[in-house]
Amino acid sequence: MTIEEVATWSVIQCPWCGEPNDLRVEFEDEGKWVQDCEVCCRPWLIEVRTHSGGRDVIVTRS
Ligand SMILES: [Zn+2]
Repeated sequence: MTIEEVATWSVIQCPWCGEPNDLRVEFEDEGKWVQDCEVCCRPWLIEVRTHSGGRDVIVTRS
């Protein structure tokens, strides 16, 4: 038995400064939201898409 994960960490690359960041995505998170880069403080538009094979986390400039 495996315990279902309630949150995952995705390593994403900042679309502004190029620094890798660890992004915590809650299990129930879906859709789009805006979050600032911890390195350069510029806004990301984060989009989470759930599909049968897992989840994709897409980060673009907001
Ligand atoms: Zn950045």
